[in-house]
Amino acid sequence: MVLIEEAALGGWGQRDSARVWHPFTQHQWGESPIPLVRGKGAYLYDADGKAYLDLVSSWWTNLHGHGHPVLVEAIASQAATLDHAMFAGFTHLPAIQLCEALATALPEALSRFFFSDNGSTAVEVALKMAYQYWIQKDEPERQMFLAFEGGYHGDTLGAMAVGRGCGFHDPFSTLFCEVLITPHAATWENDLDVEAKEAAALNKLDELLEAYGDRIAAFIAEPLIQGAGGMRVCRPDFLNAVVAKVKAAGVLIILDEVFTGFGRTGTDFALNQLAFVPDLLCLSKGLTGGMMPLALTVATQKIYHAFWGDSISQAFLHGHSYTANPIACAAALASFQLLQREDCIQQRKTLEATHHEGLAYLKAAVSSLCAPRIIGTIAAWNVFDPATDYSHPAGKTLRKAALAQGLILRPLGNTLYLVPPYCMPSTALLQAYHTLGHLMQQSF
Ligand SMILES: *Cc1c(COP(=O)(O)O)cnc(C)c1O
Repeated sequence: MVLIEEAALGGWGQRDSARVWHPFTQHQWGESPIPLVRGKGAYLYDADGKAYLDLVSSWWTNLHGHGHPVLVEAIASQAATLDHAMFAGFTHLPAIQLCEALATALPEALSRFFFSDNGSTAVEVALKMAYQYWIQKDEPERQMFLAFEGGYHGDTLGAMAVGRGCGFHDPFSTLFCEVLITPHAATWENDLDVEAKEAAALNKLDELLEAYGDRIAAFIAEPLIQGAGGMRVCRPDFLNAVVAKVKAAGVLIILDEVFTGFGRTGTDFALNQLAFVPDLLCLSKGLTGGMMPLALTVATQKIYHAFWGDSISQAFLHGHSYTANPIACAAALASFQLLQREDCIQQRKTLEATHHEGLAYLKAAVSSLCAPRIIGTIAAWNVFDPATDYSHPAGKTLRKAALAQGLILRPLGNTLYLVPPYCMPSTALLQAYHTLGHLMQQSF
């Protein structure tokens, strides 16, 4: 079967361009997508057998490498046993076991798990829960949301509204609910201005809370690092200070760990490095190790109980056809068990050490490099300007040059980053740093 498809590959590009509409793609530019036929470990392979090192973990989803035998087996055996069933009025062990396993790694207060299937829906669910919570608590005037400048929370309407500070969703702004944007104090290695930036951001927040504090339902944030907005890192104590102020105004806290969850920032979850527990937590991307679409919105008992009542209208009337798909749950459980293994913990430490070594080389080799930052398994830097400019051509130039060398990157304008799967061998990652160094020296 695979062989027949490969033999027919000559026509893939044309067949694709005749029928398929790709995400985040300007089709007028006519760039052909790479036809992939398989993945193994840290590599993806195209139709000609060329290997590509997956330096972005397939849009930040993959943790243990492609085609991991433990995950493949978990998926195959679950598919053969119970493929899918509706989750209203029915339940199954893969979902229950997954919630139990995650509960052991999360703060005790985060104890109720609501399933959906992608990061955006995990965010929508959290926003809707927070909004309805206040209606049921007889504070219906709490209708606004508060979010960080530069935050990204997905591409559905509610998620775009709270992500309006990242600027990707401008055409839709008239559709958005009311969202206040508060400054984020992005920082990097040897940043001399960090304290001034944090103080200014906290002052601005005070003003917003003074004016609107009793009208805000929830504050949503990507903890420690804002991903799509430009890999913008903040100090844990900055976020702690923001949340302390927001909480004092009675506002609910939503942490969007769709990107940061499952070991990305060096701890199981970014919240392990913070001094507070959110009311709601959003998880997706790495949840299944990058094998299946699945998401969770985790709530505290306080939120959950606010939805109890005599009437169905007090319940949370939200659900998706594929809620808690058993195959995806089985993949997530197997992935989480792998994540807890000593060898995987060691992989993450090695990855972080390798980033330090690789970035030290790049800093010395590339004069336009600025704002270097590493957090756990994520390394990022900018060229020319510490501020992210999504329309800057540098990223596109480097992405193409790297692809020709078998390296998959997905820069955000002038922000370049590496988010490898945890299984990536140090030698391959260091080699990638050196190749990038040469390409950057040639290009800018
Ligand atoms: C990717 C991402 C989302 C959206 O997830 P999708 O699965 O792409 O809908 C939401 N929040 C954060 C922080 C993300 O990185």
